[in-house]
Amino acid sequence: MNIGIDIDDTITRNLDFFSFLTKMLVDAGHKVVIITIREDRVKTANFLKELGISYTHLETSSLDAEAEYGNSWKGSICEKHNIEVFFEDKPEIIKRVNPKTLSFMAVDQQLYDLDKIADPFNLM
Ligand SMILES: [Mg+2]
Repeated sequence: MNIGIDIDDTITRNLDFFSFLTKMLVDAGHKVVIITIREDRVKTANFLKELGISYTHLETSSLDAEAEYGNSWKGSICEKHNIEVFFEDKPEIIKRVNPKTLSFMAVDQQLYDLDKIADPFNLM
């Protein structure tokens, strides 16, 4: 399986869970791609090592690329790695990922109104 994972406000929301998950996935031979707009690759790799996060690929970006591609950069990286399962905290990014990808959104309840997420069509 190919799994993509964001760092900020995703991995950082629960280090124990993502440390465990990524180690299990990598040890089992799966492709784990860390996808972040953090610019400094070496610093990011050291940060992930400190956190105990395992991965097979690290995709970093830059503010220039972010400005050029906007929220579609991560979607293009997911395409590049044929990501099947994606962990991300921003819905505007998930919206630009292939709909066939199973996306898990780390929800920050201080940022999002869960009533709107739970009932986007006002059916309740
Ligand atoms: Mg994030």
